[in-house]
Amino acid sequence: MAENPFFAASTLPYNLPPFAQIREEHYLPAFEQGMAEQLREVAEIAGNPEPATFANTIEALERSGRVLKRVATVFFSIAASDGTDGIREIETEISPRLTKHNDAIHLDRALYARIKQVSTEDPQEAWLLEKYRVDFVRAGADLSESEQERLKQLNEELSTLGTTFSQNLLKATTASALVVEDPADLDGLSESAIKAIEKDGKYVLPLLNFTNQPALAELTDRETRRRLYELSINRAPENFELAIRMATLRAERAALLGYPDHAAYTVADQTAKTTEAVEEMLGKLTGPAVANARREAEALSEQAGFPIEPWDWSFYAEKVRKARYDFDSSELRPYFELDRVVRDGIFHAATELYGITFADRPDLAGYHPDVRVHEVSNADGSPLGLFLLDPYARPTKRGGAWMNNLVDQSHLFGERPVVMNNLNITKPAEGPTLLTFDEVNTAFHEFGHALHGLFSDVRFPRVSGTSVPRDFVEYPSQVNEMWATWPSVLANFAKHHETGEPVPAELLEKMRAAEKFNQGFATVEYLAAALLDWAWHRLAPGETVADAEAFENAALERAGIAFELVRTRYRTNYFAHIFSGSVGGYSAGYYSYIWSEVLDAESVEWFKENGGLTRENGDHFRSTLLSVGGAKDVMDAFRDFRGRDPRIEPLLERRGLLGG
Ligand SMILES: [Zn+2]
Repeated sequence: MAENPFFAASTLPYNLPPFAQIREEHYLPAFEQGMAEQLREVAEIAGNPEPATFANTIEALERSGRVLKRVATVFFSIAASDGTDGIREIETEISPRLTKHNDAIHLDRALYARIKQVSTEDPQEAWLLEKYRVDFVRAGADLSESEQERLKQLNEELSTLGTTFSQNLLKATTASALVVEDPADLDGLSESAIKAIEKDGKYVLPLLNFTNQPALAELTDRETRRRLYELSINRAPENFELAIRMATLRAERAALLGYPDHAAYTVADQTAKTTEAVEEMLGKLTGPAVANARREAEALSEQAGFPIEPWDWSFYAEKVRKARYDFDSSELRPYFELDRVVRDGIFHAATELYGITFADRPDLAGYHPDVRVHEVSNADGSPLGLFLLDPYARPTKRGGAWMNNLVDQSHLFGERPVVMNNLNITKPAEGPTLLTFDEVNTAFHEFGHALHGLFSDVRFPRVSGTSVPRDFVEYPSQVNEMWATWPSVLANFAKHHETGEPVPAELLEKMRAAEKFNQGFATVEYLAAALLDWAWHRLAPGETVADAEAFENAALERAGIAFELVRTRYRTNYFAHIFSGSVGGYSAGYYSYIWSEVLDAESVEWFKENGGLTRENGDHFRSTLLSVGGAKDVMDAFRDFRGRDPRIEPLLERRGLLGG
């Protein structure tokens, strides 16, 4: 057998993982060797007879576990983008073992004792040292032996439950799919969409991530809409029990660590810091948002001629959009061709702002033929990093869109960043890939995360790029969305895929006019999910939940966000952000999106006040905020950029919540 490609550093440009050589059978041996190697390194650091210094302790820890880092980075990236059955089996096996491995390091008493002895005068080193100290305390380093034993059990069970939750969910995508025998029931969907889901004389419409399935906007048959909606909200019912168990275990863990509940534990090291701060913020939005949604519902029922049900919302929202604004979003699609959106839109805006340029590297392979590799250079021609784009949906890819790092930038290892974006665009059988406006916006959003990774200019990998608090990480990506509709950028990429004609100005005007419509729905749907997440994680230790659905209803009612026509974006049974193993990092953190949006709305205002899309503005954003990653207090970085503390008003204005 050839040498395992994870055992040595990549020899490819920018240390791109050698995907062409990586096989499924390489992962487990590399994980095992990687964990063993890191434990040896950690034992050496902990047992070092020399006095503890920054170099022989903290920097040595930063240098440890290289093989493990290499294999874990590639493995979890592939598990999300191309998770075959073989990969899922490895994931089930390795997840609890990785949890154990991390606990073994964080609960190593000799190591923790040495970390506490380190002192340093250098501000960057002091910042990192404090991060390590907090990481260890939060992982339970200060607990007694017996408490640590219980903590390890909790972590291991949570890890296994999280993997089961996500695998149940993946199965439900097709197991709970809408099956139709008569294509007439699918009236409203395009012919090609109907053809694409035909299977053995039946039609199988798989479920997408969230409650409100996109097909609900198009299906003309009310009964089909009702069936699809019911399938969506009732999928993977076995996950209700898992969610109860996970929330209970998290509450117990928080108590062990000295917090009143999991939410308090989670926000303590976020920019929000306290549960009160989060509740105050969400509380400001719920009332006005529900009032907006109720007004929208009236307009929809009027349009329908009868009181609508939840499964009617999207269908009549499209009708009202057409009647009121004469705007049909599908008319935009021929102007949003994928290659143009990327090259003449996303890359173009980045060149205007930051001077960076992009070159195709077809000689460098991704893990799938659809993955494109681009080399990114600075304005002066110096190399910056690699950007990989995996645009298409496939049955082995999880839902949604995301950015991840394949190589973290750090001066410590002299490594430049390799970052990637995943989207879930349906690949056409032939011809060009035409996007919806939402997909265009998402592509700009994810590239904002990519820029945060690419511009990272820090010494240590632990604080590189997007290694910032979760309630801050969405902020730079949300800012990048503003360029999708910036007139000069839009004019550059929105051209008809056949004729090259620019998108008609009047169509854009209609789009802008229609933008605030349905904001009530979008805000309520989001806030309900944030408040549901919150309720599960404010459970007191020892508190029991008998019925997850009853808990869900009561929680939404209590938070003032219950509105029978607009359900939460994710119900408990399919809330992967907070319960899934590999992606479940948002527990007590789904509030982060709107929390970050406060900073986003402030920053969009700043760009507009200062002349918009200019090199000067881009360079200021890059140097004060994007390049510092998590190497300093991120709110200080925000103040460096904006010149003052953030205010909530620009967000309220944008979401139509200012009242009046
Ligand atoms: Zn994002």
